[in-house]
Amino acid sequence: MKPLSSNSSSEQEISCQFDIIVVGSGAAGLYATLCLPEHFQVGLVTKDTLKIGASDWAQGGIAAAIDPKDSPKLHLGDTLRAGAGLCDSQAVKFLVENAPTAIESLVKMGVAFDRKQGKLAMTLEAAHSRPRVLHAADTTGRAIVTTLTAKVLERPNIQVLSQALALSLWRHPQTGRCQGISLLYNNKISWLKAAAVILATGGGGKVYAQTTNPGVSTGDGVALAWRAGAIVRDLEFFQFHPTALTKPGAPHFLISEAVRGEGAHLVDDRGNRFAFDYHEAGELAPRDVVSRAIFSHLQKTSPDPDKAHVYLDLRPIDADRIRYRFPNIIQVCEHWGIDVFCELVPVAPAAHYWMGGIAVDTKNLTSIPGLYAIGETASTGVHGANRLASNSLLECIVFAAEFARIQVEPIAADGEELPSIEREGDWEEEINQIKEIREELPKLMWQSAGICRTHSAMQEALDRVQCWRKQLANFRICQYILNLAPTQAVQFNSPHAENKLRICAETLNLLDIAYLMLKSAVFRTESRGGHYRTDYPHTLPNWQVHTLVEGESWQISS
Ligand SMILES: Cc1cc2nc3c(=O)[nH]c(=O)nc-3n(C[C@H](O)[C@H](O)[C@H](O)COP(=O)(O)OP(=O)(O)OC[C@H]3O[C@@H](n4cnc5c(N)ncnc54)[C@H](O)[C@@H]3O)c2cc1C
Repeated sequence: MKPLSSNSSSEQEISCQFDIIVVGSGAAGLYATLCLPEHFQVGLVTKDTLKIGASDWAQGGIAAAIDPKDSPKLHLGDTLRAGAGLCDSQAVKFLVENAPTAIESLVKMGVAFDRKQGKLAMTLEAAHSRPRVLHAADTTGRAIVTTLTAKVLERPNIQVLSQALALSLWRHPQTGRCQGISLLYNNKISWLKAAAVILATGGGGKVYAQTTNPGVSTGDGVALAWRAGAIVRDLEFFQFHPTALTKPGAPHFLISEAVRGEGAHLVDDRGNRFAFDYHEAGELAPRDVVSRAIFSHLQKTSPDPDKAHVYLDLRPIDADRIRYRFPNIIQVCEHWGIDVFCELVPVAPAAHYWMGGIAVDTKNLTSIPGLYAIGETASTGVHGANRLASNSLLECIVFAAEFARIQVEPIAADGEELPSIEREGDWEEEINQIKEIREELPKLMWQSAGICRTHSAMQEALDRVQCWRKQLANFRICQYILNLAPTQAVQFNSPHAENKLRICAETLNLLDIAYLMLKSAVFRTESRGGHYRTDYPHTLPNWQVHTLVEGESWQISS
């Protein structure tokens, strides 16, 4: 295969063949890359720069039962309770028992968690029965990602491809094995071959208008894997964080649960601590309960609930404690004109974490041989219907460590390669329509598949999403993503082609995940964890099963 040329100034050549390709450079992708045996040549593909992703934005921390008064058993119990009957207990056991080793490894690598009298400091978060959340001020994710990134850059067997977007998975026509990806890089679509592909592409929060997720969270891994025929699971379960900053013009910046853990109150515009009207644990009830409490309270009390908000009052916390624990939150709020020491912080719920994902076994293997998934894009079974706070960074690290034992089969010899073709890459009219859809879809999803769902709203949204999917499938630009023949490389001459293809690819992915989420949410006629239906408000024993999707088939697990 011909090598790709890089966009770096040195114009070094980049291989088109690796032993293993890792897609995504959040905590999951970075740690997985570092755990892979060093004799493998690894390609780390990431669609922005190395550090951009939800991991870098994680604030609260990472959970691990390392305190003598705590135990993996207690951590297990809390995780299972939060998961509302849908956790895979073996996977959770694996998670909590390996948590202390994962932390030890991060500390050895140089992650500087906060300490108290020399020992690792731990805080309490909602639904944890013990203080077990390790943190590095309120930028824990950044501390982890920065350390892992530095390690990745030191390793000669890892080649990093930044600003490189994985477009599709490449399956062997006879064996069905995943043998690589198609990639948009440097204004060109190429085919990268590998003996194994690891998807670590993160979540899909951008499908919702209100989300704490960064721009890269467009559900690419789930969409690519589903289109390639992999089994995906429990896609109806989405966690809505109760407290995202809600101010005109400001992003939905997350105000960590730890703020309430430290003693902040949640109040309405009359100063009422209304959360106790909805649950005895008040503002420290599980996330879905607090999110629904805010949602319901605003529905009752506000003329325009979609734009309304409640407030976090940090004044019950000692000012020095606020300074020590939440420097980043202080800074961001200050940037948006809020002094947390004497003013209330306007907040409302926002889409935060996708529990569903690509179904994997304990070795991170999907239903497609040669294809692995890890981190938020995977469904390992540890989060069930609702994630326990601070378990997701932990999941990234614990499950990625399994790659130290990966065994891959050698890649089959190269077949005939199609000659590369050149295209202009204009598609102005199509792109305008795609941009409109990209604008409309998250609003539709927020209204129909948000915190409270009903059959009729979701069915209407589904019809709309189906129309958009059909419309896009007919666009010329989409053919390069959906129908390009394997090994057919395409070089685009227009300098803006890459950007347009990226918008198109991400919109196709968002539409596919919206379709999958809506259909799964219609399919599950009960309420559980992150899936709440006002027309089926109860949790039903016969629905204590997973939703499995393969192609157009929706089934429950046995
Ligand atoms: C604001 C916020 C705060 C959070 N706080 C916490 C917390 O305190 N504790 C906790 O445990 N969890 C927290 N979470 C959740 C946690 O951060 C995420 O679940 C976790 O970091 C996901 O890691 P990841 O590696 O799977 O994905 P990410 O970190 O999102 O990384 C995904 C990577 O994939 C790349 N990518 C995506 N698609 C493609 C593609 N098609 N081609 C190439 N590259 C691609 C992206 O560029 C990115 O590099 C928080 C989440 C948010 C948004």
